[in-house]
Amino acid sequence: MEDQKLVYMDHAATTAVHPEVVKAMIPYLHNHFGNPSSIYSIAREAKEAIDSARAKVALSLKTKPDEIFFTSGGTESDNWAIKGVAFANRRRGDHIITSKIEHHAVLHTCQYLEKQGFSVTYLPVDQYGLVDPVELERSITDRTTLVSVMYANNEIGTIEPVKELASITHEYGAYFHTDAVQAVGHMPVPVDGTEIDLLSLSGHKFNGPKGTGALYIRKGVRIDNILHGGAQERNRRAGTENLAGIVGMGKAIELATTGLEEKGARIRAMRDRLISGIQELIPHTRLNGHPSKRLPGNLNISFEFIEGESMLLLLDSFGICASTGSACTSGSLEPSHVLLATGMPAEIAHGSLRLTLDVENTDEEVKYVLRTLPKVVSRLRDMSPLGKQAT
Ligand code: PLP
Repeated sequence: MEDQKLVYMDHAATTAVHPEVVKAMIPYLHNHFGNPSSIYSIAREAKEAIDSARAKVALSLKTKPDEIFFTSGGTESDNWAIKGVAFANRRRGDHIITSKIEHHAVLHTCQYLEKQGFSVTYLPVDQYGLVDPVELERSITDRTTLVSVMYANNEIGTIEPVKELASITHEYGAYFHTDAVQAVGHMPVPVDGTEIDLLSLSGHKFNGPKGTGALYIRKGVRIDNILHGGAQERNRRAGTENLAGIVGMGKAIELATTGLEEKGARIRAMRDRLISGIQELIPHTRLNGHPSKRLPGNLNISFEFIEGESMLLLLDSFGICASTGSACTSGSLEPSHVLLATGMPAEIAHGSLRLTLDVENTDEEVKYVLRTLPKVVSRLRDMSPLGKQAT
C-alpha cells in the first residue's frame, strides 16, 4: 500500500477542535470553574466568559448578543426552534412548512409534530437540491406559523435562497427558521438585512467542541421553552451552562470567521481540482448538488455500478476518511433521502461519495485522493457484472 497516512475529508460530519480553542477552554475546566449563576468572583469570571462568547457568536452573525441562546448543538437548536414556535403559536395555526432535504434533526421533529396533530408540508427540490420560492408561496396557508428551510445542505452542499424564502414567509405573517449548521464558519451568514427569525448553529462543525451550539432568536419571536428548570439563558434554556464548551465555541467561531473569504477561495480551488480530476479519470460519474451555489468544501459524486459503503471501506484502508450520504445515515443501507429528493434513482444514489474539505487539507492530499480513488472504483467495478462493462 502506498504512502499510508490519514487524509480527513469528512469535515461536514465533524471537525477537530482547534488547538487555540483547547487553550481557551482549559482555564474554564480548572481555575475558572465557577457556576455562572453564583455571585462570588470565580463565578463572575465564568459569567463574563459566557458573555464574551455570546458577543463573538453575535458578531459573526451580525446581530445582537441578547438574541443568541446557547444550546447543546444543532439538534437541540432545531428542536427548540421548531417545537417552540409550533406550540407557542398553536392557537393561530397548526401548519408548518419544511423541505424534503432537511437534516433528520428537522425532519424527525416535524414528524413528531404531525403525531401531535400539526400538519406539515415537505417542499420538493429540483435536480440541484434547490427549493423553489414559488412553490413555498403556493404552500403557505393562513394556518402556517413556521417555515424551516436549511441554509446549506449537509450532503450535497447546495445553498438555499433563504433570504428570499424568509421574505415570502413574512409576507404571510409566519416565522422563518433556518438550519445553518453546515454554513456557519464556512461562508458569511449574516442575519442583519434578512427576515430570518431563528437560526441554528453547531460548534463542532467549525473546529469547536462537540455538544455546543446556539439558536439565534430574533427579538419578539413568540417561542416556548423546551427545557424547563433553572433561569439560565435569560429564563429561556434551563440547565447549568456548558462553560468550557461555550468559551471554546466562542473562540472557534472567531477563528473560523477570520479571513473567511480567503480560506473559502483556497478550499474551493482544492475542491474544484478534485471534481475535475475525478471526472477526467473515472467514467460514469455524476456531480450531485448545484454547480456553483454550493458550500466551498463540499463535493458529492455518484459512481455508477458500485456501492458507496464498499467504497468507504476501501478508501479507509488507504487512510481516506469520507462519507456516503450523511454520517448519521451511513451504517444503514437506505439510500440518501436528499439524493432521492433530487430525482436520482436509488441504485445510483447508493454509489455516492461525499468528500468535505477544510483549510487543513493540502494539495498533496488532493493528489493522493486522485491517485487512490480511480483504483478503488475500478477494483469495485471489476467485482460487479454490470460494473465490468463500465471499465
Ligand atoms: N443540521 C445539519 C444540517 C447537520 O449537518 C447536523 C449534523 O450533522 C445537525 C443539524 C445536527 O447537529 P449536531 O450534531 O450539533 O446535533
